[in-house]
Amino acid sequence: MTKKLFYQNPYLSEFSSEVRSCTEMQGQYAVVLAETLFYPEGGGQPADRGELGGFPVEDVREQNGEVVHFLPRPIPVGSPVLGKVDFPYRFSLMQQHSGEHIFSGIAYEAFGCRNVGFHMNEAFVSVDFDRPLSLEQLLDIETESNRRIFKNLEITSFWLSSAKADTVAYRFKKKISGEIRIVEILQTDRCACCGLHVSRTGEIGILKVESFQNYKGGVRVFLKIGEQALIDYREKNRELHSLAAALSVKPGEAYASVCRLLKDGECKKQERNSLENRYFRLLSDSLPKSSCLCVYEPDLEAEAVGRLACLLGEEKERICCAVLSGMPGHFLYAVASSVDARPLCRRLNERFSGKGGGKKELCRGSLSVGTYQEIEREIMLFETGTGSH
Ligand SMILES: [Zn+2]
Repeated sequence: MTKKLFYQNPYLSEFSSEVRSCTEMQGQYAVVLAETLFYPEGGGQPADRGELGGFPVEDVREQNGEVVHFLPRPIPVGSPVLGKVDFPYRFSLMQQHSGEHIFSGIAYEAFGCRNVGFHMNEAFVSVDFDRPLSLEQLLDIETESNRRIFKNLEITSFWLSSAKADTVAYRFKKKISGEIRIVEILQTDRCACCGLHVSRTGEIGILKVESFQNYKGGVRVFLKIGEQALIDYREKNRELHSLAAALSVKPGEAYASVCRLLKDGECKKQERNSLENRYFRLLSDSLPKSSCLCVYEPDLEAEAVGRLACLLGEEKERICCAVLSGMPGHFLYAVASSVDARPLCRRLNERFSGKGGGKKELCRGSLSVGTYQEIEREIMLFETGTGSH
């Protein structure tokens, strides 16, 4: 069994050891050492990164009590080897893992919620709880978590034999047989865990609920912890200041300013629609009341193309009203009919590489080939409702 130096001191990043075995495995080399500082993936915590014998460690896993390091190149068995763990990455995971324990411990203490799922990667931590929590409740847990962080409480770990397991109260996800490793945060939490932790809560720095969503009858909470919280704050601060500068307002006024802009945009859209409708009516009155009509308006949006076709079709004598907008290569079209617009729609799609469809009364789509004249000819030739020329 590999001696796990990371449990003795998770703050060390360099070590030397002896290569016990090196086996080729699907293009990688599985290396087992006498002892290691490399933490293997487990308990929700990703494997350490770093170098072994000058080669990058691509993965670390525990297999039958041995810690197996996966390298791109072989290293000689029996030889001494130097290992170097990527400590900033390891420390960030330690901060996040300890922060998650505090958050889950307080969620359990305050609201009886059990942590039933835990994921951690470079960027964030997510925790699944077995019952719903409101935003207010999550913010209460967040506030209390940070208070415990500021108190700089001691974090320790100890092994508990299965015979004594019932004598100590602790949180766990599943019952484990044999010796159990318990991580204890003073006055806060005790939890079965095989991961690595900081030694005092102050090292976590800060913990923030980033977002949450309903999940399997409970809630999934995304947390930003430690340096990841700083990175997140920095990015969001930059984003907010850029937004405020673009809007020429103070950062705290950006949201209200965007709401005003959206409301203004909506009002302008309504004004434009009403002006368009007045123009559409004048246009309709000026056009012949023939059974088939084709109109070209170059700059209409898709919705307005349909609106104009409907309005033209209000004239009873017009059996088929087609409207085109855009330009060759991308024409928008709408066909309104008092009989059936679908045969003409299908015909246009076939003839001019178009797509679109709709109901009997109104069909809409776009055409990717054909000039306006060719399309107009096709429309005017079409006997509405018969599906043929
Ligand atoms: Zn843990």
